[in-house]
Amino acid sequence: MENKPNILLIYTGGTIGMIKDYETGVLKAFDFDKLEERIPELRQLDCDVEAISFSIPIDSSNMNPKYWVQIAEMIEENYEKFDGFVVLHGSDTMSYSASALSFMLENLSKPVIFTGSQLPIGDLRTDAKENLITSIQIASLDKKNPGIKEVCLYFEYKLYRANRTTKINAEHFNAFASLNYPELGESGVHLTIHEERLFRPSKGKKLVIRKKLDDRIAVIKLFPGLHEEAVQCIFKNENIKAVVLETYGSGNTFTSPWFYKILEEAIQRGVFIVNVTQCSGGSVIMGQYETSVHLKKIGVIDGKDITTEAALAKLMYLLGNQIGRKTFKTIFETPLRGELS
Ligand code: ASP
Repeated sequence: MENKPNILLIYTGGTIGMIKDYETGVLKAFDFDKLEERIPELRQLDCDVEAISFSIPIDSSNMNPKYWVQIAEMIEENYEKFDGFVVLHGSDTMSYSASALSFMLENLSKPVIFTGSQLPIGDLRTDAKENLITSIQIASLDKKNPGIKEVCLYFEYKLYRANRTTKINAEHFNAFASLNYPELGESGVHLTIHEERLFRPSKGKKLVIRKKLDDRIAVIKLFPGLHEEAVQCIFKNENIKAVVLETYGSGNTFTSPWFYKILEEAIQRGVFIVNVTQCSGGSVIMGQYETSVHLKKIGVIDGKDITTEAALAKLMYLLGNQIGRKTFKTIFETPLRGELS
């Protein structure tokens, strides 16, 4: 008889693993070893599930690159033993973490599914059970030849490529969107996976875990009235190695000479600047409008349709791996894990 798929649940924290303290009304983490007590339905799944947890589960607002390395190491240590991984994570920064892991897990050949919930597991109307159970089912699909070889995010009946997602709602169960790439799958009466949309890593390569991340980066979101001093403040700091510039529409900025001067000087000093649109969907097209022509000329990196979350993760990953100045722009503009078109 064939063995059942083995799935590892990694609990990092977040609402999904919380219960309400009925005296104070405050949400707090519950003992994850008691998972099956909370969700007896887990016993009905046609796979073996083991769970490990951060020693102190965190609200995902406290997430940072050190914790990403911890998640990556938990996957690394258990990679051979398990057929798939489900990472339980607070929804607030899930897209950042899942994007980062997509870069850190190079040549991934097993599914890694991030999920969480808007309501805690103990709540009567919770979305946690569906998100958790379906994520486990997706992670255990087709054990011998898993079609999913990438980091995904599952939430409210939809499976997404993780590095394409953004949290778009603080209260709806439908809290995530992937506006520039279609869903990888849906859960309805049937669990449908769109094979043709899945990421295909190079064949036969061994998993490499990239743990060096350089977080000396910043985001500048443009707004009408943004001050020279505020922009200067960031670029004057020698410790800032890369900046995500959240621009208007298809990559446009105001054309004030002081602004161009600051950007140009920074690029000449070796600071990497990535143009990402502040629109939720669509792409940067540098040179389409007069208001982006100069950015292209001075060597601003074209973020195309990447999300800010994925751009930050990719910058940390490329800076951490000391990609040289000459190739940095080309590599950033090339899709590595399906994060841009
Ligand atoms: N604040 C929580 C967190 O991100 C919200 C959630 O889990 O959805 O950890």
